[in-house]
Amino acid sequence: MNQQKLDTERIDFLTKECKFDQTLEKSISSYKPIIEYIMAVITSKPVSEGFYGLYTMFIDKFGPRPAGSKILEDAIDYMKDLTHTSGIHNVTTENVLIPHWHREYESVKMLHPLMKTIKVLGIGLSVSTPSEGIIADVIVVNSFDEFDEIDDTKILGKIVLFNAKFTSYSETVQYRTDSAVRAAKKGAVAVLIRSITPFSLYTPHTGALMYNAYVQKIPAAAVTLEDADLIQRLYDEGEKIVIEMFMFNTLNSEISRNTIIDLQGVKQPEKLVIVSGHMDSWDVGQGAIDDGGGMMISWFVPVILKYLGLEHRRTIRSILWTSEEPGLVGGRAYLHKHYDELHNIDFILESDEGTFKPLGLKVAGSNRTKCIIAKIMELFPPIDKVQFVDITGSELSLFIDKGIPGASLLNKDDQYFWYHHTDADTLTAQNMDDVVECAAFWAAIAYVIADIEVDLS
Ligand SMILES: [Zn+2]
Repeated sequence: MNQQKLDTERIDFLTKECKFDQTLEKSISSYKPIIEYIMAVITSKPVSEGFYGLYTMFIDKFGPRPAGSKILEDAIDYMKDLTHTSGIHNVTTENVLIPHWHREYESVKMLHPLMKTIKVLGIGLSVSTPSEGIIADVIVVNSFDEFDEIDDTKILGKIVLFNAKFTSYSETVQYRTDSAVRAAKKGAVAVLIRSITPFSLYTPHTGALMYNAYVQKIPAAAVTLEDADLIQRLYDEGEKIVIEMFMFNTLNSEISRNTIIDLQGVKQPEKLVIVSGHMDSWDVGQGAIDDGGGMMISWFVPVILKYLGLEHRRTIRSILWTSEEPGLVGGRAYLHKHYDELHNIDFILESDEGTFKPLGLKVAGSNRTKCIIAKIMELFPPIDKVQFVDITGSELSLFIDKGIPGASLLNKDDQYFWYHHTDADTLTAQNMDDVVECAAFWAAIAYVIADIEVDLS
């Protein structure tokens, strides 16, 4: 990510697109001292160590928190109790019906041209193989276009390896979500997917897939970049490749909960500024980056502002989503339940792309909203970048689709997808100073948005 380019983008946008009256400009710049105060308190030794200690304790106590698991429900209870002991009693949970997919057993082996164990992670929501397993020849393709060209008779009864190189997440993730349906339509018996990552130390990456009610459901598993490359080389050499797959997963419905923490505003308490992250994770690693960090900094916003006794105009609502990973289930349930009150949401913040060094915000909304946010961001150097991009595939995107303005935490996430949905998503991959800086920025920006005179929606 080119940080200088982002700086220029903000300046260009402000000069070309934005006009401010003097009162608003003055009002925005008046927040400078309070921003510095909030950030200085959070980055001070006792507060930063206390905050990071809570984060560490949470991650190590619960570890991975898959949707539908008892561990996730225990983690939700724990955060609820922690909110009370931190001095906020306005905390509620709302029931959500969620899918509980459970990985029981998986084993994939190459039988020909050589015997080799292939390390895999089944794709979340995947069906099982038949109990006797699947043994089939492998076809390798690099793209959907290439796959579509192949005659159906050649796909029938085969395992297809979708070996698409990582470009961007939003582009490449289609191979994880859509391959099973596309391959089944042409008669394949299972799919293997090159993990959605630009880098690998032999780590397969899980994540959710989507089935189609009218198409046969076939099993899907992610392989490492190393094995995808190996299979590709053998295939290119004309070898017949035979793979054996065993996968056993279960899927049922459970009740989980979104957690909602309110810190009341003083002048327009009915108006909401939401700050959010998700509590669940995949069943591998520790869910420290995705989304332990984002959840924890969002939880901390009302807690620290209450502790500091800072009044703000609108209510700050921290939401810890449940069941984001199997398909934004918590966010959808919230939208459904609160449909009549959506007009009260002034702005929504979400952190679900890592808590590496904070850089600024990715913003979606009207030009007027973008102008005000860009102007506010001038008060946060060096965390003052703004990026105007489409926000897709997150809880935040559901709200943006409803016309509510919002922003995601822009951070130095160049390595985010190295860890994403793997056993390597642990606290070891996090850096205390960076996470604390994220927490400081997050609380300060939420405060300004919640207090500023003009509405953003
Ligand atoms: Zn996430």
